Amino acid sequence: LIQLAIPLNFIGFVYREIRQGLTDIEQMFDLLEVEQEVQDKPGAVELAVADGAISFKDVHFAYDPARPILKGISFEVPAGKTVAVVGPSGAGKSTLSRLLYRFYDVQEGAITIDGQDVRDVTQKSLRKVIGMVPQDTVLFNDTIAYNIRYGRPGASDEEVTAAAEAAQIGTFIRHLPDGFKAMVGERGLKLSGGEKQRVAIARTILKSPPILILDEATSALDTRTEQEIQAALDVVSKNRTTLVIAHRLSTVISADEIIVLKDGVIAERGTHGELMQRDDGLYASMWNRQREAVQAEERLKQVRESD
Ligand code: ADP
Ligand code: MG
Repeated sequence: LIQLAIPLNFIGFVYREIRQGLTDIEQMFDLLEVEQEVQDKPGAVELAVADGAISFKDVHFAYDPARPILKGISFEVPAGKTVAVVGPSGAGKSTLSRLLYRFYDVQEGAITIDGQDVRDVTQKSLRKVIGMVPQDTVLFNDTIAYNIRYGRPGASDEEVTAAAEAAQIGTFIRHLPDGFKAMVGERGLKLSGGEKQRVAIARTILKSPPILILDEATSALDTRTEQEIQAALDVVSKNRTTLVIAHRLSTVISADEIIVLKDGVIAERGTHGELMQRDDGLYASMWNRQREAVQAEERLKQVRESD
């Protein structure tokens, strides 16, 4: 009986979320990992977005009370600006995005969008204004056009094609035997991590939300793919309030502010230029290491090509 009860409970949970206007498949998968359901407050109002300015004020959070993850995090993402969060694995970077999207609630402090506490508004209205490009995009077992159109189900074929082009995946799709009608997902064409991420970006371009959360893939991409993804992200994040969990040098360099998260607190913050000037800084040492790795990779490639 217990074995049966759990999946049924899950199904009910997922169904309720779908009924509430779930718009992203990623969202559904993330929800499945969430044990505790965050509920709308009685009388929750619709979030009214003017510019989409985000504020984290003294945010404390722990999944398990015995192990605090965030210990008093305060920062702002001004309307239309990009803030990059960097730091060691397990520092709580993705947790920030989960709290903003309200998969969980903060335990102390507050997160606001244009001055409205995310706990006071309906989850549906909150999630409508946020576009999430996760680390790992899960695709539907359907056509590539369907997977892109999911961002805005009423979009025309022309709009789907334009979004794919803007996301730097148009050429790739046009070279597939079935083009936009090609089946993808587990039972179709297997796309690489970078290709799936560009499908997610195309979807987000169609959704056109005022606020963006990007959780960049940690795995090293080759330089060309990185440049293509960066070009796609530049299109989608232009004039939108963007919180990016950044692993790529190219993203971080152009961010308006960089937050270095470590041991639950903000260890360093500033622009790339400011942080690189601190010779003994955490950020400077992180990027010097990454730069050396990239240079080593390029040297290796030159050696291979000259063979
Ligand atoms: P980052 O994105 O910086 O690598 P996360 O925000 O994903 O880190 O996770 C921060 C910490 O919280 C990690 O130690 C992780 O193991 C833990 N954690 C993440 N999700 C959960 C969860 N659902 N339940 C318990 N602990 C979690
Ligand atoms: Mg993460």
